[in-house]
Amino acid sequence: MQLANETKGPDQKMSPSIYAALIDSLFQDPGPMFAGALCAAVAAIMTAVKTGNAWLWPCVALLVVTGAVRALDTRRYLQRRSELTSNEAARWEVRYQVGAMLYAAALGLWCVVGLLGSPDAVAHLICISVTLCYVAAGSGRTYGRPWIFHVQMLLACGPLTLALAFYGSPYYFGMAVLNVLFFFSLKHISTSLQKIFVRALIAREREAALAGQFDTALNNMPHGLCMFAADGRLAVMNHRFSAMMNLSDDLVQRGASARDIIAACVTGGSVSAASGKMILSEIENTQARDIITTDPDVARGRSLSWTFQPMAGGGAVMLLEDITERRNAEARITHLARYDELTALPNRVNFRDEIERLLAIPHDAEQLSALLFVDLDQFKQVNDTLGHPCGDQLLCAVADRLRAMLRPEDFVARFGGDEFVVFQQNIKSNEEAASLARRIVEHLSERYKIDNHLVEIGASVGIAMTAPGMSADTLLKNADMALYRAKADGRGTFCFFRYEMAQTVEARRILELDLRKALANEEFELFYQPLVNLKSGRIATCEALLRWNHPVRGTVSPIDIIPVAEDMGLIVDLGRWILRKACMECMKWPETVCVAVNFSPQQFHQRDVLSEVRYALEVSGLPAHRLEIEITESSLLRNTQLTHDVLSQLHALGVRISLDDFGTGYSSLSYLHNFPLQKVKIDRSFLEGIDTDRPLTLLRGVARLSADLGMSVVVEGIETNEQLELISADGTVTEAQGYLFSRPVPAVRVRQLLNASHGRRLPEEPQVLVLPSRSIA
Ligand code: C2E
Ligand code: MG
Ligand code: MG
Repeated sequence: MQLANETKGPDQKMSPSIYAALIDSLFQDPGPMFAGALCAAVAAIMTAVKTGNAWLWPCVALLVVTGAVRALDTRRYLQRRSELTSNEAARWEVRYQVGAMLYAAALGLWCVVGLLGSPDAVAHLICISVTLCYVAAGSGRTYGRPWIFHVQMLLACGPLTLALAFYGSPYYFGMAVLNVLFFFSLKHISTSLQKIFVRALIAREREAALAGQFDTALNNMPHGLCMFAADGRLAVMNHRFSAMMNLSDDLVQRGASARDIIAACVTGGSVSAASGKMILSEIENTQARDIITTDPDVARGRSLSWTFQPMAGGGAVMLLEDITERRNAEARITHLARYDELTALPNRVNFRDEIERLLAIPHDAEQLSALLFVDLDQFKQVNDTLGHPCGDQLLCAVADRLRAMLRPEDFVARFGGDEFVVFQQNIKSNEEAASLARRIVEHLSERYKIDNHLVEIGASVGIAMTAPGMSADTLLKNADMALYRAKADGRGTFCFFRYEMAQTVEARRILELDLRKALANEEFELFYQPLVNLKSGRIATCEALLRWNHPVRGTVSPIDIIPVAEDMGLIVDLGRWILRKACMECMKWPETVCVAVNFSPQQFHQRDVLSEVRYALEVSGLPAHRLEIEITESSLLRNTQLTHDVLSQLHALGVRISLDDFGTGYSSLSYLHNFPLQKVKIDRSFLEGIDTDRPLTLLRGVARLSADLGMSVVVEGIETNEQLELISADGTVTEAQGYLFSRPVPAVRVRQLLNASHGRRLPEEPQVLVLPSRSIA
């Protein structure tokens, strides 16, 4: 903001409010002005009477009339009710200026007539003193618009000074000179006064603006605020505080103390008496601190946060925040972290903590507890067929049934998916746990009505009993192992944890560790079992079968290795090693003999199975047609289009594909038709009861069908001459494999067999004929 300059009318740079305040100052306190006008009128009459100069009476009249007009105008100004706008101020300025100038001119005229029209010294004294007094007083009134005052001075003192100068006396002349000096000093004083006044106005305006901003900020902040002065009296309280605490706004005006305010809060029911005491002591201690109080009015259920901050020069600021929403949200998050949202049962974390706590409490030896791990059978099918909303409803129904079955001291949690866990406390025997498990299985297997669907599911339960010093994790692990066994036992049943289960799991863990090392330590070996061509009586193919020469356990069967390696994801590396090793070994055999390598489904579905095969053939130099890949039906089941593509590509490469263990899985004849297979290996289970009609008819039927589809047919597991005779009678079975010919043998031994079978005799080995009815190993 700029200081006003002395131009006429509202200054361009001056704010309208300051301009209005300056004009307003002209009309304020009219008393002295009227008194001055009255004095001047009386003085003029005195001069007229004393001198007898008739020309003074018109001057008297002029002074009285202009004085009266000004008085009326001032009165009219003071009677205004509305705020003074800029335009109004400009109008009033003109009116004031006209009045003031006319009056000054009347004074000037009176002085000229009084001085030059008579030699009366008394009259002269009256004229000079009244006019100068009037002008001096004017500087105190018109400083708001100094230019008006300067013109006034010129109009009043100008004629007086001229009259003195031309009076013809050196003293009068001296007086005229002093008058000029007096004029300049008054001009300077009035200008300075105006500057001071404008500065004060600007400061006041700034203060008002600041106060307004502060007020807006205070009353729009989300917190309630009270500010106490050093003497403990309330200096500021915003609306939010008074609204939150239901207090009247006049507490500030009353200069209420902190004690008064808290007492009002307690009386209003917003703060409990105890909280009030605590808050008060904080204010009085003037130490920064946060306090959370809850509203004593339960219906409101409010949580309030009070923050105290002492101020540097004494006093304190108290902030009040309604944190109900935040607290509710926090409570909800805590609840979500510890409870299952769907069923509202405790979740795994919550349950585990609770068990840990209960297990830590010392118990009598006879007092047992049981942990029952419940898993729903066929829940996935419900989810898949009826949709997830139905699945959710089913889970809620299961939770309700479980809750209803338990005593108050037992509790149940949901561990996610279809897993529930029950903790049964204070039981006397395992039988009580078994009885609960039985009831759970029965009750959960009863029908559910969900959205007009009748749903049936089953439940399996694994039970672990607590033992002294047992941790919650061990208890849960044991119950889980028992559940695994219950499910393996055919589901819909319960099973207690036994130590052997832990041993099995431990054994599996050790096996996993050993398996990892085995590949690096080359503990694996391939054995080979011949497949004999029934027409030529010669070995057509040798199947590579994995053996693990375990340093402690001796030879481990592939049936134990392959599933573990699959679970561990080790099968891909292991399979690669087997493939390359088998291809290299085959290179040492007669050219007419092929090698068959088993591929597990997981290995078969790895991304680069084709390049793996290509690479194995390349590094070994084995022609593709000498490699057979044995896959099982489970490999065909998965991702059929991809499987079809891979098989076609392998076929295009020249590699032959055998369908192993046919008859053990789905035995879908469509596989034989839809996939590019060159060989079918009928599982040895077909040989069971082969001496009776039906299995033989079945076997022959499958064999004929496969042969008609252009595939070679192999029967696995031939152990007796009778079996061999029966399967080879109608000529559809092309090859046979079994202990009758040879057990799986090490590579060295198979080489000997091949040499013998293909007429390349090794000097030290006896020749072994490969003919039906004869074993070669
Ligand atoms: P498979 O591929 O059906 O292999 C034939 C299994 O039957 C071999 O068991 C073999 O020893 C056995 N066998 C052969 N003739 C007879 C017989 O006359 N009587 C009886 N009782 N059994 C006979 P092995 O070597 O224990 O292998 C079992 C299975 O392990 C294999 O069944 C195959 O599925 C899997 N396997 C073996 N080696 C590998 C491998 O390198 N990779 C993959 N992925 N799986 C393999
Ligand atoms: Mg096989
Ligand atoms: Mg087989």
